[in-house]
Amino acid sequence: MGLFRKRKNIYLFDPNSLSYEKFNPTFKDRMYAVIRHLSSGILIAGIALFLFSRFFDSPMESQLRKENKLMQTQYEVLSLRLDRALDVLGDLQQRDENLYRAVFQAESIPESIRKSGFGGANRYSYLTNLPNAGLIISTSQKMDMLSKQLYVQSNSLEELVNLGKTQEERLKCIPAIQPVANKDLKRVASGYGWRIDPIYHDRHFHYGMDFAAPMGTEIHATGDGTVIYAGVRNGYGNCVMIDHGFGYETLYGHMSRFACHAGQHVTRGEIIGYVGSTGKSTGPHCHYEVHVNGRPDNPAKYYFMDLSPEEYEKMIQLAENHGMTMD
Ligand SMILES: [Zn+2]
Repeated sequence: MGLFRKRKNIYLFDPNSLSYEKFNPTFKDRMYAVIRHLSSGILIAGIALFLFSRFFDSPMESQLRKENKLMQTQYEVLSLRLDRALDVLGDLQQRDENLYRAVFQAESIPESIRKSGFGGANRYSYLTNLPNAGLIISTSQKMDMLSKQLYVQSNSLEELVNLGKTQEERLKCIPAIQPVANKDLKRVASGYGWRIDPIYHDRHFHYGMDFAAPMGTEIHATGDGTVIYAGVRNGYGNCVMIDHGFGYETLYGHMSRFACHAGQHVTRGEIIGYVGSTGKSTGPHCHYEVHVNGRPDNPAKYYFMDLSPEEYEKMIQLAENHGMTMD
């Protein structure tokens, strides 16, 4: 053997000649041998790579893992901030419903409308295959809730702005004082509700409030409006009716004298007549009714410019006494 390694000769046993014959491998045989060696090498390398990657991250993998963790933390923070924003919006909705809309007498927005339009599990089905799908779906859902509820809320405020523009006029017109001066509340005889009829002594519904006062006491318009009736009306005697607009009307009965005529514009506090006992009445008093959208309402609800909360309480108690009306 010299410096260069020589190819080994291969001998194969030939059963026919019972001797060893020198074997000369063809190109094909050599290729098979190469492929055999290569594939076993690749297999071993593959197993080694698998085991390595199973226990050790590549730099790129560990970078991605870090980014993924960071992203998850960001999502959690976002989710918490959305919770807080939803809480703040919830407070605003409550104030909107119980204060702003109530003050402007706007119809309330049902919960079903305020909170509708989101949910439905299918809506987020495209996210279900992501890692951390639960967190991502709940965050997306909160975001959708927030934008939907904000939309409803901003519409509500816009509506209130428009109502506010007519509010000044409205406040001047809506009945808001008592029809006769009643400083110590001694003049409330009977209120709205089921009462005993002063003449027939059976129960009947009293649609107004009676203010007992000496004959000739001034009767005032309780809000701005137009006199639509000033004359004798069955049972009510000399009676004045005022249309205040915005669906409000008031009626003042049993007057001794008129101080206005039909078609006249009157302002709150203006004298429209004097206490008397005309019509079906048992003594000098002013029978006062408030109608809202054509239906009688309890006049006690319309003295807010006249009475402090304590006086209001007392007035309600006085008016609630189930005594006889003066009609
Ligand atoms: Zn009455």
